[in-house]
Amino acid sequence: MQIADRPYYLAVIVILLFSAVAAGAADQTVVLKAARMFDGKSKSLIPNGVVLVQGDKIVDVGSTVTIPSDAKVIDLGDMTLSPGFMDAHTHLTLDFTGNFNERRLKELQTNVSEMTLMAISYARATLEAGFTTVRDLGSRFVGSPEFVDVALRNAINHGITPGPHMLVATKGIGATGGHFDATGGYRDKLFGREPDPSEGIADGPDEIRKAVRFEVKNGANVIKAAVSGGVLSLADEVDTPQFTPAEMAALVDESHRLRKKVAVHCHGDQAAREAIEVGVDSIEHGSFMKTETLQLMKTKATYLVPTLMATEYILSKIDSYPPALQAKARAAGAARSEMFRNAVKMGVKIALGTDAGVFPHGDNAKEFALMVGLGMRPIDALRSGTSNDADLLGIGQAVGTLEKGKRADIVAMPGDPTADITATERISFVMKDGKIIRNGPATPRTAAVRDDDIDLPVD
Ligand SMILES: [Zn+2]
Repeated sequence: MQIADRPYYLAVIVILLFSAVAAGAADQTVVLKAARMFDGKSKSLIPNGVVLVQGDKIVDVGSTVTIPSDAKVIDLGDMTLSPGFMDAHTHLTLDFTGNFNERRLKELQTNVSEMTLMAISYARATLEAGFTTVRDLGSRFVGSPEFVDVALRNAINHGITPGPHMLVATKGIGATGGHFDATGGYRDKLFGREPDPSEGIADGPDEIRKAVRFEVKNGANVIKAAVSGGVLSLADEVDTPQFTPAEMAALVDESHRLRKKVAVHCHGDQAAREAIEVGVDSIEHGSFMKTETLQLMKTKATYLVPTLMATEYILSKIDSYPPALQAKARAAGAARSEMFRNAVKMGVKIALGTDAGVFPHGDNAKEFALMVGLGMRPIDALRSGTSNDADLLGIGQAVGTLEKGKRADIVAMPGDPTADITATERISFVMKDGKIIRNGPATPRTAAVRDDDIDLPVD
């Protein structure tokens, strides 16, 4: 080394030292304290919860944790700490609330870019409600090829806009004329042609494989398909099968070969049985499932994602839907309570998922009280919205519990949620990736996220 180079090397060393100090400062330990803690897996709450966070990770957790002298302590008082809530069934890019036909017309009138901007407020409302991770199961705009869910996920990951961690499905895969055929209920060829596998509409095993490959190519983390009819679709019956067993087998085989899990929209019993037989990872809704089908689910360790909020919301606003949909909603609503009670009694694996978008985004936590109202123990409902969801989503090694090494996605709610599960609806502290999103009141919801507070009778 020549002497003339020395100042240069010294400067580099000084800069490196300063960066190290700066990195150290950014990673100051933050200590969260509260009267109670739900760790995501235990069968009861832990008194005097303490969680140590450094950077984006939990570094220690328990009741008797040594607190470093230079740590920043946030004492939340009479609250309960919990892993960030998870929702295994959202539609963060969509809003189906309000009058069904008005919404349908609005979808045709609104530029997809404008709908994307609205999705930003849906994502923020969801995160501020305590949901730090969602599995977003379907984003489609009739006659339009955009992947808004992929864009939203990426924007959130890059810190451009606040929102939960998202696993996205892109377009739901379904049969011609089925629940996901967005041209159903319109005049034939109104959109110029029939939808194809690039829009999720696929018939026959080969087309289904093509649809799965196309979605993975475009950024899907998970595959969603409709194997039976649905409530909010005009051209089908709610419980009829919409894929053959051979089509479902191709769907599952292709998805699993590409290491993607498969979530299927399914109300009908026959379609559910056939889907469980071929190895889907979760049944969404499952309204009409009989005891034998639930037994098969238990044997095959298939998850149920009940989405009780969706039927509850639709039934509470039943006059806003066309008569044909009213009949489907009433039938599904009447069947699903008994199905859910049976599933709980039989010990079927249940992961919390709401169908947010069918009701206003940010009201997701009301699902907890609905599950408890239908026979689930509060602590199990909490597990269902944290560690069970993490297991179903395949990310249990990173999130879902308050444990050393896990990502610091943490929320706090007032009082004791096992005594009053509606505490989950009053989240007042949200941390995501070690960053405080909220410590106090939420951002007032924008006009795009309407908070038409619904009365939720539990039958
Ligand atoms: Zn849905």
